Amino acid sequence: MTASTLTLTLDPKALARELSGLLLIDGKMVPAASGATFPVVNPATGEVVAQAAAADVGDVNRAVEAAAKAQKDWAKLLGRERGRLVQEGGRLLIEHQEELAKLVALETGKALRTESRVEASVFADVFMFFGGLGSELKGESVPFKTDSITFTQREPIGVVGAIIPWNVPLLLMALKIAPAMVAGNSVVVKSAEEAPLAVLRAIQILNQVLPPGVLNMLSGDGPSTGAPLVTHPKVKKVTFTGSVETGKIIYRAAAEKLIPVTLELGGKSPMIVMADADIDRAVGGAITGMRFTRQGQSCTAASRIFVHAQVIDEFVTKLKAKVDAMVMGDPLDEATDIGTIISVEQFDKVRRYIAIGEATPGATALACSAMPKEASLAKGLFIRPVIFTGLTSDSPICREEIFGPVTAVMAFTDYEDALAQANDSDYGLAATIWTRDLKTALDATQRLEAGLVQVNQNLVVQSNMSYGGIKQSGLGKEASLESMLEHFTHKKTIILNMS
Ligand code: ADP
Repeated sequence: MTASTLTLTLDPKALARELSGLLLIDGKMVPAASGATFPVVNPATGEVVAQAAAADVGDVNRAVEAAAKAQKDWAKLLGRERGRLVQEGGRLLIEHQEELAKLVALETGKALRTESRVEASVFADVFMFFGGLGSELKGESVPFKTDSITFTQREPIGVVGAIIPWNVPLLLMALKIAPAMVAGNSVVVKSAEEAPLAVLRAIQILNQVLPPGVLNMLSGDGPSTGAPLVTHPKVKKVTFTGSVETGKIIYRAAAEKLIPVTLELGGKSPMIVMADADIDRAVGGAITGMRFTRQGQSCTAASRIFVHAQVIDEFVTKLKAKVDAMVMGDPLDEATDIGTIISVEQFDKVRRYIAIGEATPGATALACSAMPKEASLAKGLFIRPVIFTGLTSDSPICREEIFGPVTAVMAFTDYEDALAQANDSDYGLAATIWTRDLKTALDATQRLEAGLVQVNQNLVVQSNMSYGGIKQSGLGKEASLESMLEHFTHKKTIILNMS
């Protein structure tokens, strides 16, 4: 078993400096050809912790050419052998788990104990899961004429461009690159401007076992790095997680080349809490579902909570008490439950939505938790989570994706009405129903318009379950064997005429 040859660096600031100014192309850590960089900021302090390399079209060309060259030999390996290497990479990621967790906390402001460490651990596990599926790239035998043998086989697509966001950079990257590589593709990753460091480190770690060129990493902004990656003639598939707006730009660019895309976009996930629900459990589900520990920066955030009028007061009182008890503070401090918002731009956007809610007649804004008091965090992008009551479904707070710690709890008396309001959304990523009544639960699972519906729980993505939205929430699925086959391979039909 390979051991990591990279020095384990548990001081995230030192590691951030070490990674400064570098991309990973063809197995090597290299600067952008232009030497250009952009600052990476710790959102808890406002301090610049690194200068990330700003890749331009020339760097994109280098990375894609390296990936296209490497893909030929990579595809010739048995799927099982590729899977073995991917799992070996996963084991190295486990060795570096704590280091990656600290780096994510430093650059994203996500609390180490409640968020970043969990992400780093699930991240490594995705490589172990997909690495085990290398022998499952099977075709089918197709009944045709008696004097022919007809079968299908799965073939890799080629070079995959993987464009990722900042909110869960490692995990969302893993769900793209692990199945893409096991299926025989090579990959060029484009990290998000706000969070390039942990992604680069993880790709550096994986490159200890992968052949050069199979997995490359570019940092830079959307127009200068992401766009030329999507339009490059040798990129044959794009997989993207991010905003609806950017998703549509990418879809249009991909249409010009007629290449397949997978798009994981926004959400406005509803929760329906019936009068007979276990309220403590539902409150726990709202905490997990809203990702309060991540300042609500999740596409599945349970940001529309419909609660039966008989139990809404109890629900809101208990929810507020639980969020109040959460500690907001330095993301790297073990005592911290809730870290920061990612960027000033996002911070301002969340505050604008809170102001809209506060100005809505009949609405009440319940601000929870306490702001951190440390002087060192005075410039940190902390926002007190807000629970709104008294809003109606037509409020922008209930219709638009805020990506912040803001949720609306709304009363209903009629199940049909709650269901109609839950479905009255442009999005369709995830939904939950909380009830002890089996008939209502089953009915809701059939009628809620979402890619993922859960009853009496609000858990996160699992490697073996297809995940992805409908409506404006996106196209295609991630995670699971089926998604690897459907989104990272072509199916070829072969007919042998034996007559
Ligand atoms: P957010 O608003 O949350 O930053 P985006 O959708 O803008 O979400 O960003 C998600 C990812 O898409 C980032 O890596 C970003 O750099 C990239 N991106 C932004 N614009 C483009 C574009 N025109 N083409 C390709 N990638 C882009």
